[in-house]
Amino acid sequence: MTTATEVLQRCGELDRYSAHPSHLERVYLSPQHAAANAAAADWMEKAGMRTWEDEAGNQYGRREGRVPGMPALLLGSHLDTVPDAGSYDGMLGVVMAIAVVERLRERIDDFPFAVEVVGFSDEEGTRFGKALLGSCAASGTWDEDWWELRDKQGLTLHKAFLEFGLDPRRVGEAARRPEELIGYLEAHIEQGPYLEAADASLGYVTTIAGARRFKLSILGEARHAGGTPYERRQDALVGAAEAISAIERLAKASECIATVGRIEVMPGAVNVIPGRADFSLDLRAETDDRRDAMWETMSTQIEALCDARGLEFRSVETHRAPSMPCADWLTDAVIDGITSTGDPRPMGLWSRAGHDGMAIGAVTGIGMLFVRCFDGISHHPAEAVREIDVARGLDAFEGAVLHLARSMQADS
Ligand SMILES: [Zn+2]
Repeated sequence: MTTATEVLQRCGELDRYSAHPSHLERVYLSPQHAAANAAAADWMEKAGMRTWEDEAGNQYGRREGRVPGMPALLLGSHLDTVPDAGSYDGMLGVVMAIAVVERLRERIDDFPFAVEVVGFSDEEGTRFGKALLGSCAASGTWDEDWWELRDKQGLTLHKAFLEFGLDPRRVGEAARRPEELIGYLEAHIEQGPYLEAADASLGYVTTIAGARRFKLSILGEARHAGGTPYERRQDALVGAAEAISAIERLAKASECIATVGRIEVMPGAVNVIPGRADFSLDLRAETDDRRDAMWETMSTQIEALCDARGLEFRSVETHRAPSMPCADWLTDAVIDGITSTGDPRPMGLWSRAGHDGMAIGAVTGIGMLFVRCFDGISHHPAEAVREIDVARGLDAFEGAVLHLARSMQADS
């Protein structure tokens, strides 16, 4: 049986496969990606699985159920990281999935489905600026336009595939068909503070929020900072400041979360009134309807406050992803798993962060188990999990898989 101690050790071992000796960075199609896949494959084989790497660099392991070739329950997460990453975002879910198979081993041989584990090759999008490349390939939603994406060195995704030893013409073969899978379950650190605040080790996910992103611009008039009296000013930056405050106030008053992460002011001189301010907006909510209604309210208010200052407001949408709800029957299994660890009323929460489930959800139902992380810190080397939470997480994950085997056994 694989213990929480061993799971944490394996996460630590994966830290070695980093592009930098002093901090963790493992990106898509890098030598470190190959090394992490090899380590995961080794653990999968030790857990009694047959292994392979697919045409998009995703690492798989499979253990057959009662009859060889049955559709599979897919367990997993991702093995790539952000720059200067923590040790658990993604990796914990892959290592826990392997541990669950290792714990169940011979019992899977009687299951009414096969069990597969996947380590997705790209979730974060660190190298090519496009997230979920690995899980999009697995869900058959690969976009041919992506081949021209470039990394910081100017290398195209197409060229990087070839250098990694993958054939770009065969990426379509990585796509899973709906009839091959019964569902996807992922364990992941929460990356937020809600479980910790509730004093809970584990939670289940209701839905993964889909973000909308905008490039917002406020246009005024650049003039002499000394010579222009207030009544003659059309200061784009003061307008942007009011807009950003309004964005925070409106999001706080709703159940949305909005972030302005970047701002650029033109002409950007100390003695010139700003004539233009361009800033970003990232907007998320539990449902697409709530998020879209929030944007309507925000844009109307920003429009009004710009009007009052004689400024012009423009917006361009740069990204839109639909939210991905978790499937009820998989969520029931996750809740049953958490309950079996002694938490009588597991906490449900929506994921503010994106996950592979958003992509693989296109071919099969998804369910997610969240594990509490220290202080909600993630995408940072201080990312940490408690051993007791990982131990409970393993029990709950195993319990969820057993729940599905029991319920499907009863159905057949
Ligand atoms: Zn992640």
